[in-house]
Amino acid sequence: MALASRLVKPETQGLVHLTVLRREQLSPHWMRVTLGGAEIESFRAMGYDQWFRLFLPLGGDEGLDRLPAKANKMFGYLRYLRIPDGVRPVMRNYTVREYRSATDERGPEIDVDFVLHGSAEDGTAGPASRWAQTCEPGESVVVIDEGLAFNPERGTDRVVLVADETGLPAIAGICASLPSHASGLAVIEVPSAEDALEFAHPADVHVRWIVRDHGVKPGALALKALGEASLPDAPFHAYLVGEQSLPTEGRRLLVNERGVPKELVSFCGYWRVGTASPTPKSQLAATEVHS
Ligand SMILES: Cc1cc2nc3c(=O)[nH]c(=O)nc-3n(C[C@H](O)[C@H](O)[C@H](O)COP(=O)(O)OP(=O)(O)OC[C@H]3O[C@@H](n4cnc5c(N)ncnc54)[C@H](O)[C@@H]3O)c2cc1C
Repeated sequence: MALASRLVKPETQGLVHLTVLRREQLSPHWMRVTLGGAEIESFRAMGYDQWFRLFLPLGGDEGLDRLPAKANKMFGYLRYLRIPDGVRPVMRNYTVREYRSATDERGPEIDVDFVLHGSAEDGTAGPASRWAQTCEPGESVVVIDEGLAFNPERGTDRVVLVADETGLPAIAGICASLPSHASGLAVIEVPSAEDALEFAHPADVHVRWIVRDHGVKPGALALKALGEASLPDAPFHAYLVGEQSLPTEGRRLLVNERGVPKELVSFCGYWRVGTASPTPKSQLAATEVHS
């Protein structure tokens, strides 16, 4: 994550071993993977846009057993990098789309919605996107809770929420946690009309979907819509996530052109066009290795 505003940290952070329970394709670009089992009882749900580091055992389960406790902190991360290539799990950032408490029939569950991007055949998909398309029930993963980027102290009564598709799970999670009297606007850009997955939200939070034409840079249309939107009466809490340019330029637009106080803008760069998150050489797709 290249840039972010002040985050709300979880009470405890540690390695939580989980198991894939099931996988469901929701639309052309969405795969839902449901996690549970193993140590799920030690995961503390915080609501809103709670996110976590996800470690995928692309080199086998041995890599998960060798993860240092604080792989998300500087010294732990250096120890993580000492796990040999080929065994080292791939680390990526994902959001709790929904947490469900235990019932009499089953334990707690976490849904994680993965954007399917690029193509597994020609090697342009990243390892996490490829994993989501092929993972099977019973597979192990490890997560480290990272807390929230949407800081509720900045306000929950009036909101402006803007994202590309990677931020849809976050916006859905935020809307599920807002009070029912909350009002405002949510602008979400998606790669196709079928990927506009409906979600529950307070009646006065108006949701605007934008479908991106092929070839348009992700986030550009959401940014344009934000520039043209009639915003709620001040003060409101703005939240901007997605491809790096969306939070960076969206924040500049709100602060410089719309007079929104900086402290009322929560933002986070989720990914960057043309830049993979760090990937062990062994996990690069064939075309990337040979290019
Ligand atoms: C706090 C946080 C929460 C996040 N939550 C979610 C979530 O719930 N669901 C989700 O799908 N993503 C989420 N993301 C974004 C996700 O971490 C990135 O998209 C990540 O790069 C995907 O890893 P990968 O291995 O598939 O691709 P990488 O190996 O990182 O990248 C490979 C190539 O694909 C491109 N790429 C990466 N992501 C995308 C994309 N979405 N669309 C098009 N091209 C892409 C890169 O630019 C690169 O060229 C979140 C990010 C953060 C920081």
